[in-house]
Amino acid sequence: MKVISPQDIDQLPGRRLSPEDEFSFRCHTDIACFNRCCRNLNLFLYPYDVIRLTDRLQITADQFIEEYVDVVLRPGQFFPEVVLRMAADKERTCPFLTPEGCAVYPDRPDTCRTFPIEQGAIFAHPAGKATSVFFYRPPGFCQGQHEKKSWTISTWTRDQEAEIYHRMTHRWSEVRHLFQSNPWGTAGPEGPQAKMAFMAAYNMDRFRAFVFESSFFNRYRVKAAVKKKIRRSNEALLLFGFEWIKLFLWRLPSKMIRLRKN
Ligand code: SF4
Ligand code: SF4
Repeated sequence: MKVISPQDIDQLPGRRLSPEDEFSFRCHTDIACFNRCCRNLNLFLYPYDVIRLTDRLQITADQFIEEYVDVVLRPGQFFPEVVLRMAADKERTCPFLTPEGCAVYPDRPDTCRTFPIEQGAIFAHPAGKATSVFFYRPPGFCQGQHEKKSWTISTWTRDQEAEIYHRMTHRWSEVRHLFQSNPWGTAGPEGPQAKMAFMAAYNMDRFRAFVFESSFFNRYRVKAAVKKKIRRSNEALLLFGFEWIKLFLWRLPSKMIRLRKN
């Protein structure tokens, strides 16, 4: 998911697809390039990817972050990127790749299920709402692009069971976009507030404990129905986390959560 400025949209590589546009693609186990796309790649993980992968692997978010990812803060950025750590072999193989294919296939990350399509977000709306855009960008080695099967964005999204991923990535892009400016003040992007915001996006175990086992509800007003939902569901907790980050760092109002008046 790329955050794209409206003036750059026509300069980006790949074919931009409107909802009606079709593209050709089919991937199958007999294809010559089978699994080549699972090597030598920078695989960015979005918050919802981590929820699904920790569920699949039956490990905590702490374990997942420790064992499977690199958290990379690039110079000039105010929020880190989370990148899947590839094996230390010559081909930088994905740790989930097996000879039979992807070991986490039903819960594979958004980028993998959307491939060879890339999702981006443009921000032309004054209220900070994102518009999703899609590009067809198969790499040269991907033979699937020469197959005859035709898709549109919506048929491909349905086929790959990517609807929920796209929705969550879209919502995350609206938070990411806010990090184009520095919210940290003198504490910088590795200070305590930054750690809290990272937790609310990438570590649902710790964020749930923070919400339910600290004085959180003394500081924030949250409806009982929302509390019930976020206690049970990581997906609901993540969306709540996005709203909390916006309120906590930028004082942006939310229907889900309000600051208590002292
Ligand atoms: S490179 Fe393309 S066709 Fe080959 S396995 Fe990957 S997605 Fe399928
Ligand atoms: S998660 Fe699965 S589909 Fe994605 S790169 Fe790794 S093995 Fe390939």
